[in-house]
Amino acid sequence: MVDEARFQLAPPPDDASGRFAPSPTGRLHLGNLRTALLAWCCARSTGSRFSLRIEDLDRQRVREGAAEQQLAELAAIGIDWDGAVVRQSERTSLYEDAIEKLRAAGLIYECWCTRAEIRDAASAPHGTVPRYPGSCRDLAAATTAQRRASGRRPALRARAEGTEVNFVDRIHGAVTGCLDDFVVRRQDGTAAYQLAVVVDDGEQAIGEVVRGDDLLESTAAQCWLQQALDLPRPSYVHLPLLLDQSGKRISKRDGAATLAGQAGRDAAQVRSDLAASVGLCEANEPVTATELARRFAAILVRSP
Ligand code: GLU
Repeated sequence: MVDEARFQLAPPPDDASGRFAPSPTGRLHLGNLRTALLAWCCARSTGSRFSLRIEDLDRQRVREGAAEQQLAELAAIGIDWDGAVVRQSERTSLYEDAIEKLRAAGLIYECWCTRAEIRDAASAPHGTVPRYPGSCRDLAAATTAQRRASGRRPALRARAEGTEVNFVDRIHGAVTGCLDDFVVRRQDGTAAYQLAVVVDDGEQAIGEVVRGDDLLESTAAQCWLQQALDLPRPSYVHLPLLLDQSGKRISKRDGAATLAGQAGRDAAQVRSDLAASVGLCEANEPVTATELARRFAAILVRSP
């Protein structure tokens, strides 16, 4: 594994309680494992709490046994966590409470648009962001009544209306996001990722969200929801994703890029490979997870 993703990290917040929140849709790949290891190092290097949350709301994509396998592989590379593992599928009432709060504040609305309708409207020549054209945002009462009577369930969308949200990421610096009217509850009644993650991070008192930078774009919507739900904003760190030998992001479909796929290398050696790819140890240097957390504090967390 040669990646050399070096980065600088601004100092941690006072409360650096962290979490890792995998979706149990398959095996963790090496990129997920590296993100988990670094999220763990972020929290543990400051002596903070670390939680594990299984994001299993998307029932069509969840694979049986995947969560257990993911937990076992995280433990194998030396990651530990505090308290019981949280499973989103068991927390529906928390998400419903949040939706009620948003509804009471007039911050969500019902949307009956199909994907095809949104796609067609979005290809009209008026820019790419926001992508949702707002078709259901201000429906006349009679139209709403008619649609409700049709029996088709609506999705719920946030009345974000292109709001600009600013936040600071400890690697990327100041980031501005322009918000679409994003979905908070899907048509099938399931809480959307954006809502569930904000409710859970709030409820679990997460002070620091450390995850892959493929989720940087989601953060503005999450900040908007935190404000709407009166939840504190955690500190954000979006880590560079692990690249394969040809410079492409590792994907879950790449079966070889898993812990089990590292022929002849045990979990401790893979931990060293992951750590070496961000300069936390030399290639092939035996190093414990605790030692990595110590080095992480000394090497990556610098005063501005
Ligand atoms: N469950 C998400 C994923 O596996 C991560 C969510 C997050 O860290 O906020 O990509």
